[in-house]
Amino acid sequence: MSLHQYPDSPVFYRKLNRRFPLITKGEGCWLTDEDGKRYLDGSGGAFVANIGHGVREIGAAMAEQASKIAYLNGTAFTSQPVEELAAELAALAPGDLKKVYFLSSGSEAVEAALKLARQYWVETGKPSKHKIIALFPAYHGNTLLALSASAREHYKTYYREWLVDVVRIPAPYSYRCECGGLRTEAKAGVPACPICSGSVLEDAILRAGAGNVAAFIAEPVGGSSTGASVPAPGYFRRVREICDKYNVLFIADEVLSGAGRTGTWSAIEPYGVIPDIQVLGKGITGGYTPLSAVLAPTRLLDSIAKGSGSLLHAQTFSHHPVLCATGLAAVRYMKRNGLVERCAEMGRSFHRKLEQLRDLPHVGDVRGKGLLAGIEFVEDKGSRTAFPRKQKFAERFADAALEEGLMIWPNVGQANGTDGDLALLAPPFVITEEEIDELARRFARALMSVSEGRQVVGSR
Ligand code: PMP
Repeated sequence: MSLHQYPDSPVFYRKLNRRFPLITKGEGCWLTDEDGKRYLDGSGGAFVANIGHGVREIGAAMAEQASKIAYLNGTAFTSQPVEELAAELAALAPGDLKKVYFLSSGSEAVEAALKLARQYWVETGKPSKHKIIALFPAYHGNTLLALSASAREHYKTYYREWLVDVVRIPAPYSYRCECGGLRTEAKAGVPACPICSGSVLEDAILRAGAGNVAAFIAEPVGGSSTGASVPAPGYFRRVREICDKYNVLFIADEVLSGAGRTGTWSAIEPYGVIPDIQVLGKGITGGYTPLSAVLAPTRLLDSIAKGSGSLLHAQTFSHHPVLCATGLAAVRYMKRNGLVERCAEMGRSFHRKLEQLRDLPHVGDVRGKGLLAGIEFVEDKGSRTAFPRKQKFAERFADAALEEGLMIWPNVGQANGTDGDLALLAPPFVITEEEIDELARRFARALMSVSEGRQVVGSR
């Protein structure tokens, strides 16, 4: 067996202290490594493989486009797949989000969305509007502006001097809110919780000065940072009202929650609210190529068209024909096979099954929507006390799961910025009932191995 591990391999891996199984095949929800070991892709990689592995027609669409044109300069030319995918995404988007700017990664698209918000205010004669308001915990990407907007402290440690100040409000994270998510709306004699209802945004805008605030950015359904926390039904209506009242743009970061992952194309849809800017990424192509998108209405873009004439976020690989051909094939595949509807339907079985995990040791909470779930591990269920970070519970669990042939997405730090252990699940939308049962079985076995102390970090 070959060792794919630093320093033996020529690859500079993201993690330098572990072995990487070499995957040779993917089919549906399954990955197979060079030794024939099979892994159930319980997290779609990083919430990306929405339509499943090995869909030949996506590969064929990519190859066909690549065989025609290598590359086009997006400031000079356009192409059929770019035009057609923009039309498809505009038709799926909420409200008036009808114009689509293509990039490659979620971080780039978040940067572009924030810059678009800022540029809009400058070009409409309000240059003082520059501050960004974001949630904590939150994650919006790893390039420096997107990282500034993120509240994931361990990613920022070495770069603080390079980051810009962002105004923070607490995320609607009911498991760790004092109100327990029970006061999302005011009832007779009981005021609504300002965090879970969204009103806390108003205080933050007033403190920063409405004339200084450009945008509020949030994920409609929490991703890895709050472990699939679902804000209350009225949350984004309140956010929309506040943003309208103070002339603040609302950016919905749907890099993770979009492209059908929570059972509707956009996770914001059930809230009945239209953001000013929406960001998509990860699942648009099902992972077959990197592709992200910024969606904006003409009411924002017209002022730039009449002013400077272009968005000042230039990247070589924007509007790439092969990436867009892949996205087009994936979106049409999802539509033709009803995969977003399937995600909603299978999501119900998935959450019913996952509820049973609550009986296992250290499972504090199980939550989510569609085929997105977060399982929060705690040292003590009654007090919801998180494990001390040095125990690396989430990392040990992810290792144990991989040993069981289950891919999950671990995340840490959500309880207090340092401690907190999460396992995120986001299987491909083609998952079957049997595969959901298998996923839950492997999850339970991995958890028992960690809680009984059989799994230590890096034991693979
Ligand atoms: N926004 C959200 C909500 C994300 O989950 C991520 C990635 N996890 C990003 C932005 C950044 O995307 P990328 O890693 O593709 O740059």
